[in-house]
Amino acid sequence: MNWDESDAGKAYAAQVASHRGWVVNPDQDITAHVTQSLAQIARLKGKPYCPCRDAEGQEADHDIVCPCKYATQDIQEYGQCFCGLFLSPLKDPREVTSIPERRPEPEDR
Ligand code: SF4
Repeated sequence: MNWDESDAGKAYAAQVASHRGWVVNPDQDITAHVTQSLAQIARLKGKPYCPCRDAEGQEADHDIVCPCKYATQDIQEYGQCFCGLFLSPLKDPREVTSIPERRPEPEDR
């Protein structure tokens, strides 16, 4: 992925969704914000760390490289990932909301 391209974040999200059988949230406000942040983080830190969480860009954060380790379970349980970027095909996009953080506290990882 060339993160310098202007729509790299969107292209990445489309690739991930297609690969996982998910849907990219059609809400342009959410999607534009999250994908632009993903691309910016990838340019700064070398990997697309989750923009909805604090990341140092170290090995300890391997679980939150997008698509994060928690997305599959969150999409199964809530129909969406923590950021609301990826949805289950069954999820009504109008029902995207904040969901509980599944990532354990640092001392429990
Ligand atoms: S919650 Fe996970 S899958 Fe969703 S944008 Fe953040 S890292 Fe990606």
